Amino acid sequence: MIIPIFVPHMGCPHTCVFCNQRKIAGSFMGPTAESVKAMVSTYRETFPDLENAYIELAFYGGSFTGIRDDIQENLLSIALKLKQKHLIDGIRLSTRPDYINPEVMNRLVGFGVTTVELGVQSMDDEVLAASQRGHTAGQVEEAVGLIKKSGIKVGIQLMLGLPKDNREKALYSTRRVIELNPDFVRIYPTVVIRETSLASLYFQGLFKPWTLETAIDTCAIMAILFAQADIPIIRMGLQATDNLLFGKDLIAGPYHPAFGELVKSRIFRHQIEFFLNEYKLGNEENELTLYCHPKELSQLKGQKNENITYFQNNCNIKLSMVPDNNLKQGSIAFMENCVTKEFSRREFLDKYRITY
Ligand code: SF4
Repeated sequence: MIIPIFVPHMGCPHTCVFCNQRKIAGSFMGPTAESVKAMVSTYRETFPDLENAYIELAFYGGSFTGIRDDIQENLLSIALKLKQKHLIDGIRLSTRPDYINPEVMNRLVGFGVTTVELGVQSMDDEVLAASQRGHTAGQVEEAVGLIKKSGIKVGIQLMLGLPKDNREKALYSTRRVIELNPDFVRIYPTVVIRETSLASLYFQGLFKPWTLETAIDTCAIMAILFAQADIPIIRMGLQATDNLLFGKDLIAGPYHPAFGELVKSRIFRHQIEFFLNEYKLGNEENELTLYCHPKELSQLKGQKNENITYFQNNCNIKLSMVPDNNLKQGSIAFMENCVTKEFSRREFLDKYRITY
C-alpha cells in the first residue's frame, strides 16, 4: 500500500525533453509535518486489512535527493517518526541516477528509507543525450550499485519511444536493466505533452512519436523478458488523469488509458501462438476452445476480440475462449479426450525464446 506525498520540484536544472514540470525557484511549498501525518491517517482509514498491509510512504514528484539538504532531512525525519510509531512500514522516494552518491546513500540509510525509484528512461546513451537527460547509462549502473550495496530496494523507470529510441534500443535497455537486477520496474510510453521541448520538436516535424501498436508490441516483449528474469513490473502505461487527454495536455503519442491491459493481452497472444506451434493444437476444422481464469478472459480475447481475429487471419484457426474457475491466472488450457491440459505462464516463460 502506497501513501503518495507530492514533493514539488524546486528549480530543476535539467531540461528533459518530455518534462513539463515548471521550474519552481521560490520558496518551498511542499508537505509539512502536519500535512504528512494527516495524509497518513486518512489513507490508513481507507486500507482494507490494515493489520497485514505493508504501508510505504512515498515521496513522489521530482528528484528527491536533488532538493535542498535541510528540506530532505526535515521530510525524512517526519517519515522516520511515523515509521518508528509503526504507522508506516517503509519510506520510498524517487530520484535521478546522477543524484545518488555515497553521501546521499548514508543519509537515506540513516533515515530508514526502504525503496529508491530511479528515473532511468533508457540505457542507450544516444537516446539519453537526445532526450537531454543529463546523465549516462554508466551513471545508472553506478547508482544502482550504490543503492543495492546499501540494502535499500531499487526500482527502475523506463520510457519507450524517446527521441532516437527504437525497438532494438528498447530491448537493449531491457537487457541491460535485467543485468542490474532491480527489485521492480515501471514502463511508460513517451507521449507529447503541452509546454515541453518535445512538443516543439513535434510541431517542427523533428520528433515522431511511436504508434500505439509499436508501443504495445515492444512493451509486451519487454514484459516477457522481465518476467523471464523474475523482475516484477509494477506499472505499464501512464496513469489516466483529467488533463491527460487529447485536446487538453496531451498532444500526440501512444496514450491509452488501459495501456497495461493491452500489453497483457499481447503477452497472451504470444503465449497462445507458442503453445499452438509447440503442441500443434487444433482439430481438423481448425477450431479450438481455450480456457483461462475468469479475470483474464478479456485479456485473452483482446480488445474488440483482436486476439481472436489475429489467429483467424494469421493462422486460419478459429478460437473460442471460455472462463474456468479452476485455472490459475496466467494459464491457458484446452480439452483433450475430456481431460483439461493446462499450460502455465511459467512454462511459457521458461520455454519462449525471443530472437530479436
Ligand atoms: S524529468 Fe525530472 S530531471 Fe528531468 S526536467 Fe523533469 S523534473 Fe527535472
